[in-house]
This record gives sequence, structure tokens and C-alpha cells, in this order.
Amino acid sequence: MPQRITPGQIKKNNRQQIYNYIYDNERVSQQDMAYAVRLSRPTVTANLAALEEDGLIAKVGTQDSDQIGRKAIAYSIVSDFRIAVGVEILRKQAKLIAVDLYGKKIDRRVENMPYANETAYYEALCEIINEFIDSLPQPNDRVLGIGISLQGLASPDGRSIVYGKILGCTDVRIDVFEKSLPYPCRFIHDPKGAALSELWASPELTDAVYISLSRHLGGALISHRQVMPGKHGHNAVFEHMQAVPNGTVCYCGQRGCWDTVCSMRALMGNQDVDSFFAAARTDHTPEAARWQVYLKNLSRLIGNLHLMHDVDIILGGHLAAYFNDADIRLMYDEIRRNCPFDEADDFIRISKMPSHNITIGIALPYIRHFLDDIDAERG
Ligand SMILES: [Zn+2]
Repeated sequence: MPQRITPGQIKKNNRQQIYNYIYDNERVSQQDMAYAVRLSRPTVTANLAALEEDGLIAKVGTQDSDQIGRKAIAYSIVSDFRIAVGVEILRKQAKLIAVDLYGKKIDRRVENMPYANETAYYEALCEIINEFIDSLPQPNDRVLGIGISLQGLASPDGRSIVYGKILGCTDVRIDVFEKSLPYPCRFIHDPKGAALSELWASPELTDAVYISLSRHLGGALISHRQVMPGKHGHNAVFEHMQAVPNGTVCYCGQRGCWDTVCSMRALMGNQDVDSFFAAARTDHTPEAARWQVYLKNLSRLIGNLHLMHDVDIILGGHLAAYFNDADIRLMYDEIRRNCPFDEADDFIRISKMPSHNITIGIALPYIRHFLDDIDAERG
């Protein structure tokens, strides 16, 4: 028997559809909307009034309308009707960001505080997060939740860190935050956050392998516009696949992982990235030689991943902004040399989100969830 759609569901769908249309088009008139969403004028009028009264949309002046020859009232969504927070925890710093419903930054803070898996650290950080949220122009009840990354693999439900050897945070539970923060919290693996922000910035992106080239190597698989979580929460952890038998010891304890070959740490140690590239772009320097070796190694990783997944390969992370056209050409040549068949040269892409990508990305699931069902919290 076909499922009946109840009048209540139709009403809800119309409301959601009108909201989505305003969200997508940013600034629209009632006349253009009625035409585009194919709903009757009275239905649109009633929904606009209700959405405005609930605070989700607002009148924002007038604009020309396609449908009538005079100025019409323009509507936009209230972009900070709900907001979300991302907290990226690193060895020496914690980075905080608050974003609106468009994923745009409202405010950001960086705290220099060395990470320690201790109660005192979590309490101090939670105090900073609470202060940060209190300092925002938006009232606290607009905060949907806080995404937290701890440079480790999160359980599929985001309640614990299942593997966190970089910071020594394996088995940390989200309770250490939730007991001091009056908001929903969840852990998100940092490269997954980066991939989520990439998806947000790239509406045309459907499938890709995302490689995060930062101090450590990481990655994510994007399929059908979703970041694939994996059965056990460790999808696309190619940083621990073996690149060099009996190579350098990785932080995971094994030898010769890709992290020991393609991470920024492997490339430049503790050298500052700008000074490294200033030298690497000068002929006959040790840095220039190291960069050439690095590009060949990275080509090997990209080539392998591309044999596994014939999709775009996105280079993200801190290093992404430093690649030039010649580097990319060299990598394609190298990949072709090692590929059993003709490889195209159209699949390596540089990230569109060079800054704050992880911190924003780990906040975005809360925003996405809200936009998918604006009335979920009303029950
Ligand atoms: Zn490893």
C-alpha cells in the first residue's frame, strides 16, 4: 500500500521548501518564490509570516521582481538564528570558531595552551569555550552544538576517541567536555572536518579522496557528497599504510608509514613553512632537492589512491597553498610513469578551503542537521 502523506507533513514540507529556497537564493521576493517553488501565493504568504514570526527569516528591504514591474519586499534567512562552534585541539593550541547557518565565521579565538589528557586541562578549556560563547553577540540558546577534534580517530557516534596516539588521548570520552559545557558535543576526526568544509565550499563535488597535508598526514573518502565513516571509524587512514619497508618509525609504532614520508613534519621537520618554501623555490638549495623528492613520493601515494578510487584527489591542509603549476605537472608525469595505463591529468585539485578548514568543518554537522530539518528541535 502506498504511504499516505498527512496534511501535517505537507505543511511541514512546504515550510521547509520555502526556507530552503530563501537560504539557497539568499535574497528573494515573495513573487519570485511562489513561481519557483510552485506553491500558491496564499500558501507562500502564510509560511513567510510564520517563518518571520518564528525568527527564521526577516524582511531585508526591497528588490526588483521578475514577476511584477515594481519593487517587491525581499526576504533573507536570519543567518545567525542558530550557530555552531568548532574546537580544534592541537599539541600546543586550541582553536575556537563560531559559524552561522552559512558556515561563515562569526568569531574566532586561538588559545596557546599545551594539551594534557588531564581533568585540569579539560576544565580550563571548557571555561575558555564558555567565555568564548558568552562573548558572541548571539544568545547562548542559539548554539546548536560543539564539534571537537583531538587529532585522533573518533568512534562512529562521536562519543569517544578510539585512537589518539599523536596527543595520547585514546579512550577520552566526550563527557569530559559535556559535564562543563551546556551544549551537545561530539568528537570528529580532524581530516573528516577538513573534508566536510571542502564539501561545503564545493557544491559540485560528489566523490573524492581528500588528502590533508599538514604536520601530520590524514585523509577522508567522499562519496555521494558524504564523508564515509567506515565500519569502525577508521576509513581512509592511508597515513599508516606502509610506504617504505623498515623505514622511519611512525608515531603509531610501525615503520615506514606514509606519515613518515608525506607529512609536513617529514618534509621540513620543525622548519617554518614559509622559510622552507622561500629556500625550496631557490635553485640548488637542500630544500629545493627535498621538495623534488617529496613531490615524487607524494605522486606515488596519489597514484596508488587513484588506482584504488578513480575520483578527484583533493590536496588540502597547510601545505596545499604552496603547490604551483609546475609541481602539479611534475606529479602527473610521475603518476603516469608508474601507472599501467594512460592516466588523465585532470584529477588533482587544490583545496578551496585553505584556512580554518578543520575548525569550521567540525562545526558544520550541527548546521547541516538543522538546515535539513528546521523544525527538528520543535519535535
Ligand atoms: Zn603509522
